[in-house]
Amino acid sequence: MVDFFQAIYDWIIGFFGIGNFIKIINSGDYSSFLTYDGFISIIGPLFPIVLVLEVLMALVLRKFKAIDYKISFFSYVLNAFIGRFISIAAIVFCIGLFEKYAIFKTTFTWYWFIYGYIVWEFGHFIYHYLGHKVRLFWCLHSTHHAPQAMNLSVSYAHFFLEGPYADVIRTTVCILLGVNPPMLFVIMFVDGFYGGFIHIGEQLMKDGKLGFLYKYILTPSHHRVHHAKNPLYMDTNFCNLLNIWDRVFGTYQPEKENLSIEYGITREMKPNSFLDSYFGEFACLLKDVYKAPGLKNKFLYIFMPPGWSHTGDHKTATIARNEFLKMEHATIQNEEEPKFNADKSKMVIQE
Ligand SMILES: [Zn+2]
Ligand SMILES: [Zn+2]
Repeated sequence: MVDFFQAIYDWIIGFFGIGNFIKIINSGDYSSFLTYDGFISIIGPLFPIVLVLEVLMALVLRKFKAIDYKISFFSYVLNAFIGRFISIAAIVFCIGLFEKYAIFKTTFTWYWFIYGYIVWEFGHFIYHYLGHKVRLFWCLHSTHHAPQAMNLSVSYAHFFLEGPYADVIRTTVCILLGVNPPMLFVIMFVDGFYGGFIHIGEQLMKDGKLGFLYKYILTPSHHRVHHAKNPLYMDTNFCNLLNIWDRVFGTYQPEKENLSIEYGITREMKPNSFLDSYFGEFACLLKDVYKAPGLKNKFLYIFMPPGWSHTGDHKTATIARNEFLKMEHATIQNEEEPKFNADKSKMVIQE
């Protein structure tokens, strides 16, 4: 029984990441808070604490729906046990494998931090873009898009192999472009923290635009757009903190006042089912591959974007978005004409 409580205690300490914090408090040597480890021990627990705060806030406002947290919760449990270890192994493996091929070496200084961060975001863009545009990788990534509401727990909703897949790409890009490995870990830490924060829900932060920062960095509002299934919003805002690469590659999309966000994925899903959010896309892909005529079509289903069809009747996000933009353009033009006529008639009457 004591072991049971000890295990629960260890899990709580682990979840909140407060182990080091407690150690420093117990040692009485508070000056260690000024060291790097000490700093991390304070910043690390902030995110899980804010998540708990968000849940409490929802409870107080009587808006708490356990269902909004279900997919994230089960994903967190699976990732904590399997995904994390594979991820760490993958990162260490990639550093060892590619360090000797780095185009040049950088050091642990603030300007190489900025360089490293831009490179990291580039790696993140590649991983994330492929996660939306290659059907097999979408199977790994779609779990993260399954929740139909936004809150901090969504940052825990991932298929357990997505972390390793993302880290292989991001680490390889960074190491080949000369990012110094200790610096890479600092960047990963900032990225993990900020990447969690951008999932803050409307209950804690209504517009999520962070004031003037909206123009310069990726804010929760931008990431809400990324999680939307509205045709205009799908497959945009792939970056995490700096959205330069979205601007470079034309995938930048600000939130529109008059277009409210609908969270989730476009496929009919069993509402809030963990199994469907975890394996549903794999099942759909298997079905399509099985039914597709010929080897080439089977192969194409795996690597073409979600929505691609061997019949030529594609329903990809790009097509949906372009159709929406075309329709929007047409309505704007239609609206303008009668207005012009109305003004003219008014003028006639005045005369
Ligand atoms: Zn995504
Ligand atoms: Zn997200």
